[in-house]
Amino acid sequence: MTEAPTPVVIPPELRPADGRFGSGPSKVRSEALVDLAAAAPGLLGTSHRQTPVRDLVRRVREGVSALLELPDGYEVVLGNGGTTAFWDAAAFCLVRALSQHVVCGEFSAKFASVIEACPHLESPLLVEAAPGERPVLSGDADADTIALIQNETSTGVQMDVVRPEGAHESALVLVDATSAAGGLRVEASEFDVYYFAPQKCLASEGGLWLAALSPPALERIAAMTATRAVPASLDLSIALENSRKDQTYNTPAIATLFLTAHTLDWINDHGGLAWAAARCDTSADVVYRWAEKAPFATPFVKESRARSHTVATIDFDTSVDASAIAAVLRANGIVDVEPYRKLGRNQLRIALYPAIDPADVEVLTRAIDFVVAEIE
Ligand SMILES: *Cc1c(COP(=O)(O)O)cnc(C)c1O
Repeated sequence: MTEAPTPVVIPPELRPADGRFGSGPSKVRSEALVDLAAAAPGLLGTSHRQTPVRDLVRRVREGVSALLELPDGYEVVLGNGGTTAFWDAAAFCLVRALSQHVVCGEFSAKFASVIEACPHLESPLLVEAAPGERPVLSGDADADTIALIQNETSTGVQMDVVRPEGAHESALVLVDATSAAGGLRVEASEFDVYYFAPQKCLASEGGLWLAALSPPALERIAAMTATRAVPASLDLSIALENSRKDQTYNTPAIATLFLTAHTLDWINDHGGLAWAAARCDTSADVVYRWAEKAPFATPFVKESRARSHTVATIDFDTSVDASAIAAVLRANGIVDVEPYRKLGRNQLRIALYPAIDPADVEVLTRAIDFVVAEIE
């Protein structure tokens, strides 16, 4: 016979002002939702081929360009289907024959498996690291495409974006920045394709992909789409043509565009990427210091430089059941700190995206201390 446990009630002073700590979808700022409601009658339910929505697309493209301080010649392209659809598009329009991939978790592995499944491409070269570790890639001179990931969301490992030594000078550097773009620093000169979706650092909804493309990437797209049969929805030359007109090839979610533009303006008006990244640094400092001190917790990622400043993964001692902590937090309105499901660790995963207030992260750590003391 198991007794029904007494529900643990977290006292009000230990409840963050906003209880959303999910790594994706992630917290959408309430201020943005209020503004969306006010703007909705002129936008939602209106044509994406007309000025109001095209203005939004323009703000998104200009906002990304400002955020990343893109040099002349780089272009921002967007389309529907999220990062997952972008991988498929990359397999048709960016990889010529052979790609080399960093693989250190679910997301980096998924892109490599997309390439593996393509009959028109060679088997990808993999540079692997165990979950929680950071692979160090030296470029293979035969690869025409190098696939990096700035933040492996499934494990909370972050990596520097640098063009790898040894790579062929014509190789394109593709960076999956889905949970990094807008929260982690990056130099545009180090990438050819920096792609992401807005439901993570940009505090919007899912379903869209965005990519900053260098001139060599634009040339590769032109060359590949001229010589290869590409389904239209995956054709980056069609996406580019539409983006240049501040449109998407097919119908976008207008609310997603609105929220993306809103967050980009919020970050850019406060000082841009440096400001947003510093905010993530503060949250990361709070959470990792706490985990290092707490007798029952440790950061999952051992190498401190590799610890993500946008997604923190914290392991718990076997004496404490992390899933029980997550359940109590959830019952108290603090949600989505469960670990990445396939990682299978006694762990909590806490998003530290720019929209998440560092003060709320601090309160969360104290809430976890409280819950552990209650359930131990
Ligand atoms: C979330 C995520 C994806 C998948 O994004 P979707 O928009 O859901 O397709 C891919 N890569 C990384 C690093 C992610 O965090």
